[in-house]
Amino acid sequence: MAGQAQEEHYSFFQGVERNFDKASKYTRFEAGILEQIKACNSVYRMKFPVRIGDNIEVIEAYRVQHSHHKLPCKGGIRYSMDVNQDEVMALAALMTYKCAIVNVPFGGAKGGIKINPKKYTSFELEKITRRYASELVKKNFIGPGIDVPAPDYGTGAREMSWIVDTYASLKPGEVDALACITGKPVTQGGVRGRTEATGLGIYYGIREAVGIAEDMKKIGLTTGIEGKRVIVQGLGNVGYHAAKFFQDNGAIIVGLAEYEGGIYSEKGLDLYNVVDHRKSTGSILNFPGATNMASSNETMEMDCDILIPAALENVINGSNASRIKAKIVGEGANGPLTPEADEILSKKGVMVVPDMYLNAGGVTVSYFEWLKNLSHVRFGRMDKRFSENQNTSILHTVEGLTGKRVSDIERKQLLHGPDEVDLVYSGLEDTMIDSYHEIREAWLGLKGEVDMRTAAFTVAINKVGVSYEELGIFP
Ligand code: GLU
Repeated sequence: MAGQAQEEHYSFFQGVERNFDKASKYTRFEAGILEQIKACNSVYRMKFPVRIGDNIEVIEAYRVQHSHHKLPCKGGIRYSMDVNQDEVMALAALMTYKCAIVNVPFGGAKGGIKINPKKYTSFELEKITRRYASELVKKNFIGPGIDVPAPDYGTGAREMSWIVDTYASLKPGEVDALACITGKPVTQGGVRGRTEATGLGIYYGIREAVGIAEDMKKIGLTTGIEGKRVIVQGLGNVGYHAAKFFQDNGAIIVGLAEYEGGIYSEKGLDLYNVVDHRKSTGSILNFPGATNMASSNETMEMDCDILIPAALENVINGSNASRIKAKIVGEGANGPLTPEADEILSKKGVMVVPDMYLNAGGVTVSYFEWLKNLSHVRFGRMDKRFSENQNTSILHTVEGLTGKRVSDIERKQLLHGPDEVDLVYSGLEDTMIDSYHEIREAWLGLKGEVDMRTAAFTVAINKVGVSYEELGIFP
């Protein structure tokens, strides 16, 4: 999908560099610092053999560490036939800026294995994954203080548990071994709320954007999520959860797109029914009451208020951007818009909420997971009961003073002390709200001359730049 759409003159990494350059002139750093921020520090390309059935397959894989201004480096591992060095470099660079924007104290990295995961049995995938993990260990490209991978397109908690197990068995006795990777199953040191974190972060981010009356007026929308017509492209972990939180909070999902095509209904699609339908028929097409769309692209061009591309890069480009009707494009995926698309949409007055902010919920909760692993204690374990006892005594005092009793439902809500998932959600919500306003301030400071992506880049460059200055450069 990524390859097909990419007809522009820039590679993905060059596109990221171009966006960086657009923003860097609004910052105060000398050329050398900017050049260092932009560069990919370490690129590890590997090939290794794995026996698949009767044959030996030589697998091509990568890990790129874009920036070491803060350690460890952080970023997912993707399994896709589109993986190549340029793609992994671009994605690693985006991780640096993403972490800076949401104040996650990590450098950016990304990994990729060039395989179609659907072609392999789970046993074969485990062999490939474990071999990849041991290559990373051999070259010191993984570790709680070095580089901490996570899920990305085509990978999930299962792959993460294979990696942590490989790492721990090669590093016996390493007390923080669990912190070598995030996105693990909860039973293997994962944190509650990580699976849905990126989708939930997208929801929080867009909720913040549509909450500002002044900005909504400019694009002809009312405030609030309720009643907004949303199209989501990609029903993987990110797209599914984004759609779920939009729907659960009153938005109308009018379109859904996958690689087999798309479906559209002005009246709204029930996400849960669509997922059931896809499970039973193998496709989202022919969903009762919806119109079939020949392609994912066509679906994205349908009428809506908010479009969330949540699959791969370059899907909105010079050839289709002019037909996009959404007033807001929220980048759930990394790099779904090419620089050409950015220009076209900006001329049309579309508000583009950029990837490096909007999909940062995943890495934010990964940061919480890493902290949990290093502290060896579940969030809420020390204070949940304490909060409940405090709440009980406050409530008793108030009831005693007023002579009134709250209802049972109110009592339950008032007494509830935070579970891990409550703390994770609230940390994520706070992060997405604060970061939105930080970017918006920068955007307003640039007098609306630039798009929100450029403003986000300036915020990121300022933070990474200061870090490099303070680190000192070897004489
Ligand atoms: N792969 C996700 C991303 O692109 C998450 C990275 C992480 O959690 O480290 O942001």
